[in-house]
Amino acid sequence: MGSVRRPREAVDFDRLEELYPPAPQYFDTAWLDDPATIEAKQLERLRERAARAAEVPFFARRWERAGFDPSTIESVADLARAPSYTVEDIRASIEAHPPLGDYQGVMPADALQEPMRLFTSGGTTGRSRPTLYTAWDREAGALLTARALYLQGIRPGDVVLNAWSYSMHNGAHIMDEALYKWLNCIVITTGTGNVTSSRKQVELALEYGASAILTTGDYLLRLAEVAREMGIDPRTDLALRALPNIGDKETLEATFGVPVLDSYGFHEVQWVAVECPARAGLHIFEDAFIVEIVDPDTGEVLPEGTQGAICITELYKTGSPQFRYNIMDLSTLYPRERCECGSWLRRMAPFAGRADNMVKLRGVNVWPEALGEIAAGVPGASDDYFVRAYRDGNRDEVEITVAARTALGDAALEDLAEAVAAELHDRIGVRIDARACRPGELDHLTGFGSAAKLVRFADER
Ligand SMILES: [Zn+2]
Repeated sequence: MGSVRRPREAVDFDRLEELYPPAPQYFDTAWLDDPATIEAKQLERLRERAARAAEVPFFARRWERAGFDPSTIESVADLARAPSYTVEDIRASIEAHPPLGDYQGVMPADALQEPMRLFTSGGTTGRSRPTLYTAWDREAGALLTARALYLQGIRPGDVVLNAWSYSMHNGAHIMDEALYKWLNCIVITTGTGNVTSSRKQVELALEYGASAILTTGDYLLRLAEVAREMGIDPRTDLALRALPNIGDKETLEATFGVPVLDSYGFHEVQWVAVECPARAGLHIFEDAFIVEIVDPDTGEVLPEGTQGAICITELYKTGSPQFRYNIMDLSTLYPRERCECGSWLRRMAPFAGRADNMVKLRGVNVWPEALGEIAAGVPGASDDYFVRAYRDGNRDEVEITVAARTALGDAALEDLAEAVAAELHDRIGVRIDARACRPGELDHLTGFGSAAKLVRFADER
């Protein structure tokens, strides 16, 4: 066997920390950069990433077809001249070049010199997407994730339960690496309720004084219920200090007495943005990302303040590039302004749903998440829901099923369904079929208690 470069040799840690200061010093340094410094860093890194992406067949082919020459990037705004792509393009690349596609910047054959890890997307819709991460990509991604967890309240040396599923998906692993490598936390790798029972999760959190339980907001609320059944008060007996959980903010805050600060990230790019205590949007880690908001259909950049699809360019990787990746998550980008917290980093609105889940219902754009939110506001309804879209003759129809807060009788369920339908009609302007069911009856559809990401929508069209 020839020479092998070990993972520790593959990363220059001094350089990594100089380029991307880790928490907590990040918040006294790059977090406070002025706009000129932010943009100068972005431009330099963008040009490097463009040159690297140009060597990857997936990008070379698409750029040539679009007449985009990466050497002509003179400003951050020039990025918009590069063609964007979506999950559909990634899928086509995998179909044509199985199993890894031709969008990877490294390949398994390089592993002796470039140690790497493989993770895949959750694959909630269609085939999962593999990504190869170099040792640098893992470290930098973990460092960025640790910044978000720090701002959300986790402190170095804390004990943290990681109740995400340790699977092929990146989620649990990047959290684990962030906590262990960049926050010196003691991670208890409980995994989901399928691996470690909910009771056991509560016991461990109590015994070790865990400062956070990383999981979905829904599962965390379930753990609060279990705790109460065990005679444990989730607010006073558990020592949770951070809620980096995605879900119903108000309920989470009321249940645990800890503020929820939102964040945003996904499989291929890892952690992108986090909300600061001013709660006026999520600050983007602009030393590592450029976020654009584009028209979901055309990929064209939309004016500031307009809701559209998130299009991401990462600036920090050495492996598989993501260069104008239209991830089809809905958000809004705010103009660059100095925040109350002192940061000039641009802010984006919290995740507002999936652009590709949109259903055109008699001329009105309808998103399942929006329906769920409206339904949850009807007295007696919980925030547990499931939406299906189907064809009836030649038109699209949508039906929502909402779980009641308590186990109601049949007549009361019918009343609840009618109230939900009336509220939806009132708020959206079109008639939507509504049903109501008892608590827990949607779990087989949503994957509650077993899936990392709850399924709220079935497109049967
Ligand atoms: Zn701020």
